[in-house]
This record gives sequence, C-alpha cells and structure tokens, in this order.
Amino acid sequence: MTQSFSELSLSPAIERAVAEMGYESMTPIQAQAIPVVLQGRDVMGAAQTGTGKTAAFTLPLLQRMMKHENASTSPARHPVRALVLLPTRELADQVAEQVKLYAKYTHLRSTVVFGGMDMKPQTAELKKGVEVLVATPGRLLDHIEAKNCVLNQVEYVVLDEADRMLDIGFLPDLQRILSYLPKQRTTLLFSATFSPEIKRLANSYLKDPVTIEVARSNATASTVEQHFYRVDDDDKRPVLKQILRERGIKQAFVFVNSKLGCARLARSLEREGLNTTALHGDKSQDERLKALDAFKTGAVDLLVCTDVAARGLDIKDVPAVFNFDIPFNAEDYVHRIGRTGRAGASGLAVSFVSGRDARLMGDLEKLLGKKLELEALELEADRRPAGRFNDGQRAWQQGDGDERPAREAREVREARESRPLRSESASFRSPRPARAPADPLFDKPYEPSLAPDVQPSWEPGTQRPTSRLSPNIKSRKKVAALFKRTEAPAVEAQTEAEPSER
Ligand code: AMP
Repeated sequence: MTQSFSELSLSPAIERAVAEMGYESMTPIQAQAIPVVLQGRDVMGAAQTGTGKTAAFTLPLLQRMMKHENASTSPARHPVRALVLLPTRELADQVAEQVKLYAKYTHLRSTVVFGGMDMKPQTAELKKGVEVLVATPGRLLDHIEAKNCVLNQVEYVVLDEADRMLDIGFLPDLQRILSYLPKQRTTLLFSATFSPEIKRLANSYLKDPVTIEVARSNATASTVEQHFYRVDDDDKRPVLKQILRERGIKQAFVFVNSKLGCARLARSLEREGLNTTALHGDKSQDERLKALDAFKTGAVDLLVCTDVAARGLDIKDVPAVFNFDIPFNAEDYVHRIGRTGRAGASGLAVSFVSGRDARLMGDLEKLLGKKLELEALELEADRRPAGRFNDGQRAWQQGDGDERPAREAREVREARESRPLRSESASFRSPRPARAPADPLFDKPYEPSLAPDVQPSWEPGTQRPTSRLSPNIKSRKKVAALFKRTEAPAVEAQTEAEPSER
C-alpha cells in the first residue's frame, strides 16, 4: 500500500496544493482509496469525516479530470463532471472548501449549493460552469428543476455520509438525482456503517465496487481526561465557569441537548460576560457559518451547540468539551468528546450529571464498556446561586428515576417538535449504530487562535472589546436603528428573538 503522496504521480498542480496543506503521509482511507479511484473503480468506503476522506475522493477525481482542464471562459467548456452529495449544509460547505484548496492550482472549477441560502448567487456560479459540484440533495433538485445545471456529462458521483442521507430521508431525492446522470460513470459511496439499506443502495447504483474499511471503534481517545461531575441543574453554569477558570482553559465546546436550551444557555453565558456563540439547527445558515467561523478564528471562546456540531464538522481540536447535558444518544458522547484530545494532545471532557440522567449514563456505560465514576465538585461558596443546595449530590446510580422538571420536559418536547435541522432531528428518530470518533492519528494538534496575551472572557477583569461581540447580540446601534432611536437600552439587544431556519 502506498503511503506517500509522491508515489501517486499526481499532476504537479495537485501535488503542489497537497504539499501546501502540509500533509506528510496519506491517512489509511487515502492510502486505500486513492489508487483504486485513480483506476476508475467504484468504491464503497466505511469512513467518516475526520479520517481524511475528502482528500481520499477529491484528489483522484481531480487527477482524472485533469485531462479536461482548460482555461476557457466559456461555460460550455466547464460542464459538471463530478457531483459530490452530502446530507447537511455544513458538511457540503466544508467539503467544497477542501475541494477548492486541492484544485487551486488547476483550471478545474468547483462550487457548492445547499438550502437555506438565496438561490441566485448559486445559480450565477452554476451558469459560469463548474467541473466539481458539491451539493445537498434538496437544493440540487431545485437547481435541476430550474434548469440551472445540466448533469449529462457527469462522470463521477460521490455519495458522502450516505448513511446520514438515508437517515434524513433523502433516498427519494438521491434516486431522482441519480436517474438524471449518465449510466457510464464512477460512483463512490462513503458511509459510517454498511447497514442493509446502505448495501441495497450500493447494489442498485455501484458496479463491482471495491470495499474499503478503515478501523472504527466506540473507544474514546486515551488522551482525553474524562470527568463526570454530579451537578444540580441550577449549578451547571457556575460550575462551568469555575472549571474554565481553574483549569485555565482558553476555548471550549459546550454541548446541550435541545435547540432552545442551547440558545438560552448561550444568552445567559453571554450576559454573564463570557464570550459565547450558539450553534444549533434553528440558526440560519449564514448565522451558523458565522458562529463556526468566529469560534475557529478565536473571536469567541465558548461554542454552545447541539449535536448538529458534534458530527462531522472539521473544527480543529479544542482543549475542552463540556457536556452540559448528557446526550440522549450514547454515541453522541463519543462524537462530542472526539473534538478534543486528538493527535496525542491532551484534552479535557467534562460531563455534568444530574439526578435524572440515570438511564442515559447507563447507556453510556454500556457503550463504553466500563463503569463511569461520578465525582463531586465543590462549588466555590460565593459562586453558588443564592439559597440553593447542591442536591446533585444524589447519585444517578441510586435510581432517582426521571425527575425532570415539567418546564424542562416541555422544552425538550418543543425542541423535538419544532422544525429541526434535518440532520439534527435524525439523532432523535433513529437508533442508528454508533459512529466512530474522528481518527485522531493524523489530525493537527490544537493551535490556540487567541493571541497569547489575550485572556479568555472568564478570566477575572477581562474587558471585552466591542468588536468581539458574539453573533448572539446585535450591537446597540443596530437595534437602536430598528427603533429609530439614537440610544437603545442594552436589555433590548439581549432579548432579541431567535432567528428561525429559512
Ligand atoms: P476529512 O475527513 O476529509 O474531513 O479531513 C479531516 C481533516 O484532516 C481535514 O482538516 C484535512 O485537511 C486533514 N487531512 C486530510 N488528509 C490529511 C493527511 N494526509 N494528513 C494530515 N491531515 C490530513
């Protein structure tokens, strides 16, 4: 098996782009898949995002398309030759970004189309002509119907995260899209699992595929220090702040189970002076991309998110992950904490366990195959909310039963019933087999994006520059303008309604 990119004889333009990425050797999925795709074979790959899968299919596809490369400005000279389908907008955006990087020294063009965004700019890009089209199925069908793109010259199709596409209910859309494509083509299917449905899909659309599997497991990285603290719901926020401060953590993910809970927590942390942004399915696409970007660039310290952010997103390793809520699906725990402790770097995963989490903790123990010890945490006396006891001292093991307060139960129900991001709802609906954490072996270690002298917002005495206001809060000026006044009280800015998904 080849290990070095130089052994692949890629065109110099592609080799240059790979060299610029700083990759030293191929990841296991790349070493196995690239030579096979270069031969034009169909592939059925078991691998998920984080394993280097995008390069595993993009590099050989670009290489094969190099024979068509041309600098003509005519759209006709740039027909869609490779179609990459993904289940969510974030993943589509992420893959498209990588395709652009790998193709940057070639004349091969690429673009991405996904829902939740205006169709016009996408249409303009499509009409200019692109060789590689990355898309989510629904929006692609919209463009096909609007005759914005022609797919009769497609030679390569990638069905990426195919299991998730089926979970979400994209099968009819996929079938329709595939029916528009030439029969003579190379088809690559990537999925975390080879369920019977995936096998059926593969049987229908793949020809004599080479099966490639990279190791997967439900194990969590040994470099992640995991703690499970008994914490009463009302103490979770002060405990979170205390741990951030005591451990000198610079950036962290904070996972919650519901969209409403996510928005609410981000708002209250923001109000308490922590530089926070929220990422959940009710945010518009634009807001979600901005939130991710703000976190990636270090403009915000805390990313409060639902599991929409746990799977697949290629956010560089972070020092700490907090499970503000124990996830409903045990597998999500593995994904969440897989965001930290990669590539041998040390990471911290802290989970807050309240009395009503007995069943979820039981599921987690089953999945991880070990007993999880609950620890008690001493909350600094002056940080404890007035008049409260830390009744989270009750061990979940002692069978407290479901003591969820009515308010919270209603919130969870509402969150499930409100129109969720498709991918997010899937985790509630489908008891799918576990997906493995990102392969930590090759990912880059965490590089703090904050300048060394910049203190995170939970450090005492930290002044937050106004330019670093999180996207949760509009500047006072903007809100004031809405009310046609010169000055608006700060509280108006903070009670801004959550935007809904378009
Ligand atoms: P993917 O699984 O395609 O989402 O890739 C996950 C991350 O791995 C991305 O940030 C890639 O840039 C990075 N990556 C891909 N291939 C390699 C490689 N051979 N060596 C190091 N990093 C890589």
